[in-house]
Amino acid sequence: MTRIALIAHDEKKSELIEFVRSHEEQLREYELIGTGTTGKRLMEATDLEVERKESGPLGGDLMIGSEVAEGVLDGIVFLRDPLRAQPHEPDISALLRICDVHDTALATNLASAEFLIEGLADR
Ligand code: PGA
Repeated sequence: MTRIALIAHDEKKSELIEFVRSHEEQLREYELIGTGTTGKRLMEATDLEVERKESGPLGGDLMIGSEVAEGVLDGIVFLRDPLRAQPHEPDISALLRICDVHDTALATNLASAEFLIEGLADR
């Protein structure tokens, strides 16, 4: 089963919700996980089930990173806010790094998220 993680910083959550809505039928076929608030917002806005980890600032990014290290995630859509400093920047860097270590697909903006989702559909 394809398993993907969805994360968005506060200023990007509405963009992620729109993205997920526009791919809802495809995403329904996948196991979805997300950081706490992102997962909650996605479940409120769609009919999808999202396994919620801790909120990002409380360790959620690291929890998702641990799934990357375990090799159980097929991809991550992580809409970061490039204009605001985040208190949990070290955790964010750790997640990006572990994706590179394990060659796990990671999209950090909508344009690349579209490619990621198309790529998964074509597998
Ligand atoms: P959140 O975490 O979904 O709990 O807001 C996202 C983040 O800040 O990394």
